[in-house]
Amino acid sequence: MENITIISDQEKGLQGAVGLLFPHAEHRVCMRHLWKNFKKTYPGEFFERVVWDAARANNLVDYCRSIAELRTTSEEAAVELEATYTVNGYYWSRSLFSPVCKNNYIVNNLSESFNAWVLEARYMPCVELVDQIRIKIMEKMNERRKLAAKWKGVLVPLADRYVKELSKNLGGWHVRRSDDRIAEVDCMEKREVLDMVMRTCTCRKWQLTGLPCKHAGEVIGEMRNARWEDFVDECFYISR
Ligand SMILES: [Zn+2]
Repeated sequence: MENITIISDQEKGLQGAVGLLFPHAEHRVCMRHLWKNFKKTYPGEFFERVVWDAARANNLVDYCRSIAELRTTSEEAAVELEATYTVNGYYWSRSLFSPVCKNNYIVNNLSESFNAWVLEARYMPCVELVDQIRIKIMEKMNERRKLAAKWKGVLVPLADRYVKELSKNLGGWHVRRSDDRIAEVDCMEKREVLDMVMRTCTCRKWQLTGLPCKHAGEVIGEMRNARWEDFVDECFYISR
């Protein structure tokens, strides 16, 4: 199975199992769990801020800046944090995530919610447990299907709200076009390069989330008769 992303806590058994069963999977580790372990050795506000900044960094430039800041205070902390990825194979910073799954989650709240939702079933014998979960998922999917049937337009509500908000709050940054496809945007002290066909930006947010970043928003905003949904990944289309 290719193009699969798994997020878990740092449970050691899972690490081996994922490597064995899904060798091509991107195995992310929940930052909340990672931080909980990390702060036992490196407590305090400074470490918390820098470690979370490194996790939220969408690209290597921002990631390296956070790691460099960490290194000025504690070389060991920086080495240990980076080893989570290089030695243990856990993806924990967005800058290291592949853009395949269009999801930039760094915490596994999703599975925690799921666990809470199926809490009763968890105390049942194995066959009943699986059956209870199956029933709950079947009913939920039917609920969602009926809900989605009422949606109008092209994009699902979350993506629709996002692009409307983005289009209303453009930053007025300077946009330069190379051709119909390539553009660059001067944003504060940085410059980002965009490929409007491949839907990529050097900030990497666009390709990671599937939703245009603020830089892409600037370029789309300057286009004549642009349809915003054309710059959103198809996974956000109602038809999907
Ligand atoms: Zn961008």
